[in-house]
Amino acid sequence: MQQQLSDVFTTPRDVDDIRYHYEINCQVIDLIPGHTEKIGVTGGEPTLMEGLFFDLIERLSSRLPATVAHILTNGRAFSRRSFTERFQSVNTPNVVLGIPLYSDYYARHDYVVQAKGAYNQTLLGLHNLGRVGARIEVRVVLHRLTYERLPQLAKFIFMNLPFVEQVSLMGLEYTGYTPYNDKILWIEPSEYVAELITAVEYLDSNGIRVSIYNHSLCTIPERLWKYSAKSISDWKRQYPNECGKCLVRDACGGVFATSKKLSSHIRPIEAL
Ligand code: SF4
Repeated sequence: MQQQLSDVFTTPRDVDDIRYHYEINCQVIDLIPGHTEKIGVTGGEPTLMEGLFFDLIERLSSRLPATVAHILTNGRAFSRRSFTERFQSVNTPNVVLGIPLYSDYYARHDYVVQAKGAYNQTLLGLHNLGRVGARIEVRVVLHRLTYERLPQLAKFIFMNLPFVEQVSLMGLEYTGYTPYNDKILWIEPSEYVAELITAVEYLDSNGIRVSIYNHSLCTIPERLWKYSAKSISDWKRQYPNECGKCLVRDACGGVFATSKKLSSHIRPIEAL
């Protein structure tokens, strides 16, 4: 049956439309130029596609062999050895898995993702993936529930997950469910700058590549600028009016056009 676009993009819905979307995505993949550097795969949770998840990776690898496929997943499915083994059979050096870990303390991670047992599954998944040589990026979104133990989390990653390729510390995009949880989540970057410096410099000094995503340069100290990436996708990046006279505009990744609230510390850098 023909679906309407308004149906397709209204989530969540209690229907099994996985194959329908999979087939659309296959058609999209066929249209992507072969010289594309990177493609992002997100969800929902793509591993919930089970067998089609592996079919998707195979299709990406065969149609776009030179393109890095960056796949966002909560990593929990990889706690099953059989799932990881199946992944290993389709994995290539161009597949990177971005997996969130919100705390070194299980209860905090489980609370953030609102799923009991998630921490244990994600950690087991990370270790299974490490065992098969997967490329892994650990992602930490910074907000009021995650910033306090950021230094401990950095140490935990170094001690227990030294095989990860990169750690990305990410600013909060104030959209979706975040505005409804403003008091629980929102925090100015200036309030967690001490924890951010400690975590970043600890990871860097211990040889783990670390990046700061989604922070405009004026909201973090200059000593952290070298870790900052222009991570906001161009279609949802913007530069507020203040940026017009900023000396570092070209190096700055701007702010989310989709965020309904921005840091109150956005100020042009007028001297270096
Ligand atoms: S003023 Fe604008 S361009 Fe300058 S650092 Fe801040 S957000 Fe970036």
